[in-house]
Amino acid sequence: MSATPVPGARRIGVFGGAFDPPHNAHIALAQAALGQFGLDVLYVVPTGQAWHKARALSAPVHRLAMTRLAFKDLPHVVVDEREIQRAGPTFTIDTLEALQAENPQAQLYLFIGADQFSAFRQWHRWQDILEIAIICIADRAQSALAQTQFDAYAGGNYRFFKLELPLMPVSATRIRQLMASGKASAAAIVQLVPEPVARYISLNQLYRPH
Ligand code: ATP
Repeated sequence: MSATPVPGARRIGVFGGAFDPPHNAHIALAQAALGQFGLDVLYVVPTGQAWHKARALSAPVHRLAMTRLAFKDLPHVVVDEREIQRAGPTFTIDTLEALQAENPQAQLYLFIGADQFSAFRQWHRWQDILEIAIICIADRAQSALAQTQFDAYAGGNYRFFKLELPLMPVSATRIRQLMASGKASAAAIVQLVPEPVARYISLNQLYRPH
């Protein structure tokens, strides 16, 4: 089976991330995904122990709370806790398979940034991901999307789409660095993350220098 869209099928998007913290590019990506693909629902899925992140992530309770705040005004977005609740490492394929089982008639769309796409073939069971989801890729400043990356899969019967999203240089790493430097003004942070997230970071003293 290949990920060919089924006419009239419910369209379910999946957008995973550490969201440590969620930032404005995540919101823009979700908005673009909903608009471009006419999704019925977009599941935003904070990762548990992401296998591919070298550093320890902030506590799941904080990342989940910030993700809820960040996406609360976006219709059709559901923040899904399943990866955070899962014991052990979390893999995208497990989430996709669970969603497919819950919605057997639906077409799944997986949204990732170009940095993740570059490493896609290191993902656990990446071939199975290609079997059940259409992959939609957003360009990212430091890892511009090369046509050759698309073409590398051309032999398969798989479906890839480019998500139309202007380049946004923001990253969670940059936000954590700014906070840890102790020099980040509230005004600077609010340029990068939704205001309730900025408030949450400040109230909970996240990303402070040790
Ligand atoms: P970090 O800097 O800690 O690695 P991040 O900013 O990449 O974090 P994640 O939560 O890891 O944020 O990202 C979740 C998803 O959003 C990934 O698929 C990532 O590629 C995508 N993404 C994050 N920032 C951007 C951006 N500025 N433009 C496009 N996609 C992005």
